[in-house]
Amino acid sequence: MNKLLTALAIAITVSLSGPLYASGDHDSDHSHGLMASNAAATQDAGAQSAAADNDADHPWLTAGGAQLAADDLAAATEALGAQLTDEESVIDVRRDADDKTWAVVLGGFCKSETDCTQYTRELSLDQQDLQAGLSGAQPADMKLNIVPMTLPSVHMANVVIQAQVEPFRGNQSGLAGNDDVKRVQQGLNAVGISTTVDGWYGNGTTSAYATWQRRLGYSGLDATGIPGPSSLTSLGSGRFVVTNKILVGSRTTFAGKRVNTRTSAMLTAAQRLFGRSISLTQGSYNAGGVGASAGTHDGGGAVDINISSLSQTQVWQLVKALRTVGFAAWYRPTSASWNRHVHAIAIGDTDMSLSARNQVADYYVGKDGLAGHRPDNTPAAYRVPFTWWEKY
Ligand SMILES: [Zn+2]
Repeated sequence: MNKLLTALAIAITVSLSGPLYASGDHDSDHSHGLMASNAAATQDAGAQSAAADNDADHPWLTAGGAQLAADDLAAATEALGAQLTDEESVIDVRRDADDKTWAVVLGGFCKSETDCTQYTRELSLDQQDLQAGLSGAQPADMKLNIVPMTLPSVHMANVVIQAQVEPFRGNQSGLAGNDDVKRVQQGLNAVGISTTVDGWYGNGTTSAYATWQRRLGYSGLDATGIPGPSSLTSLGSGRFVVTNKILVGSRTTFAGKRVNTRTSAMLTAAQRLFGRSISLTQGSYNAGGVGASAGTHDGGGAVDINISSLSQTQVWQLVKALRTVGFAAWYRPTSASWNRHVHAIAIGDTDMSLSARNQVADYYVGKDGLAGHRPDNTPAAYRVPFTWWEKY
C-alpha cells in the first residue's frame, strides 16, 4: 500500500507542478495533503512510476460490487473533501463483498493538450461519514490504478461557458473551446447518445448531454444539459481528461442567504473591489420563492442585492465590481414587479436554472436578461469584458 500511496502522490504532484498544460488559472482553496511529501518528484519520474504501477486488484470496479445511487456521488465528494484535487471527480460509489464502501475517483494530468494520462483511485468511505455528509473523512484504505494512454484534454470551463451562451443565443465564434465541445460530442456519440459533432454547444448537444446525466442517475438541476464535473469526468473515461474544472461546492450562506461556495467566494471578491459590504435580499436554490424572479433563482449562482442605501453612482460601481469577478449583473430599477435592486448570476455556475442560463446568454450579447431582451442599461464606463470566476 505504501508503494501505491507513493505512486499516487507522485502522480498528483505531476498534475499540479509546472510547467503543465492547462493548469487551473484560478486555483481553488482545496488543500493537497497527498502531494506535500513528494513535492520534489520530477515529472518524468512521476510518469514512469505511475505507468509502472498498473494495479489490477479491483475486479469489482469493472465487474461486480453494488453500485450506489447518484446522490451518493455528491455525498462522497463532500465526505472526501480535501482528499480530492481539483483535477479529480468521484464518478462512482460502490459497496464491495465485504460491505466496505468505496468512492471511485477518476483524475488525470496532461503534458500537452493531446497527451494526458488518466488514473482511477478508490477511497474507502466510512458509512456514517457518507450518510452524515461529513467533510474531511479520512479514507482508511486506498487503491490506485494508473491508465497510461495518450488522451486529449477537455477544458471544462470553456465547454460550460458555451453550454450557457449558445443554446439561447446561437453559435458564438468568439467563445474558445470548439475542439473541447467536439470531444464532448464525440464522447456522447461513443456512449450511444447521438449528437452532431460540430463544436457548437446548442440545444441538440444540451439535450444529448441531459440524456447522459439522466443515465448516470441525475435529475433536476443536475440534469439540465450543462456539464458538471462528475458527469463530464465520467464521459471522459478512456476518452479525454478534464482540465480547468468548475466546482461550485456545497451550499452555504452569504449575508444570511443561501448560495453555494463558489458564489460566496465571488461575492466576497466583489465586496473587496466595491469597498462596501454587500447585503442580499434573495439568494440561490430558491425555487418558487419569489414569483417575479421567473425561475432565475431556482438553481445556483443567483443573487439579488439590496441597494436601498446606495447612490446611483455606487450602484454602477457595484455592477462593475460584480461583472469584474464573473457575474452577469444588472441594475433593476423599481418596477411593478420589484423594488430597485441588482440582480446577478454567477457565469459558469453548473447548478444554474435554465432561465438563469438564458440570462447569461443575454449578458454575453449585451442584453438585459429580461423578457423584452432590451439593451443592457449599464453606462459604458461601468462595463467590462465578459469573464468568469475561474478566469478572473
Ligand atoms: Zn434576481
